[in-house]
Amino acid sequence: MDATLYVIATPIGNLEDLSPRARRVLSEVGTLIAEDTRVARALLSGIGVPAPRIVAIHAHSSEKDIRDAVERLAGGERCALITDAGTPGISDPGAHFLDRAYAALPGLHVVPVPGPSAAATALSVSGFYADRFLFLGFPPHKKGRAAFFKEVVAADETVVFYESPHRIEKTLDALAEALDATRRICIGRELTKVYETIVRGPVAHVLEVVRAAPLKGEFVIVVERAGR
Ligand code: SAM
Repeated sequence: MDATLYVIATPIGNLEDLSPRARRVLSEVGTLIAEDTRVARALLSGIGVPAPRIVAIHAHSSEKDIRDAVERLAGGERCALITDAGTPGISDPGAHFLDRAYAALPGLHVVPVPGPSAAATALSVSGFYADRFLFLGFPPHKKGRAAFFKEVVAADETVVFYESPHRIEKTLDALAEALDATRRICIGRELTKVYETIVRGPVAHVLEVVRAAPLKGEFVIVVERAGR
């Protein structure tokens, strides 16, 4: 029997967003390959599913850990891959394991179990046309930062990217400097969580709101395309 790996999207905050299919598959796997075992255990306990064997695979996993997980798959064990939140592979270490598994097991049967992603969630509430969009992950901290914002400014499609809580103001400052004053942005903070906040408008307005009550939490930034 070919090895089967389920790639499961998990909630970005609200546990009710876990699909019934994702819940069922999580309850049926023998080994769960996860970015962080504690986060995985918290998810399983939150949805009332007993924890299977959990193997942590992240960007710094050793060769041995990756080989062990591949061997479990090769041995016919039903395995699933999850990351800390959202859809594995989107700006997280999801592809790190999957690429290795594809290479090691030519007959690997990969089954997607789709669900939330912070990027798609923010795009969907931005009200900006996303018939075409450019996803840029996280802005670089130093090298390549100026080029990153240049790309955002020049884009003729809606741009979406992630930012961490302690860098949001800095990044909005950089956007305010780079963007035309009329170009609108939308920030989605703590989407699907208790303190969910969506702020939309010219970047100067968004910055004003963020400065008035410094926002903590996780962020997605959506920038309307140039020349709308
Ligand atoms: N794979 C994930 C996905 O599909 O959304 C993204 C993983 S990336 C490491 C984590 C980043 O996603 C956070 O730093 C934040 O920018 C964004 N993010 C995740 N959950 C979020 C939420 N509930 N609200 C806003 N942004 C979120």
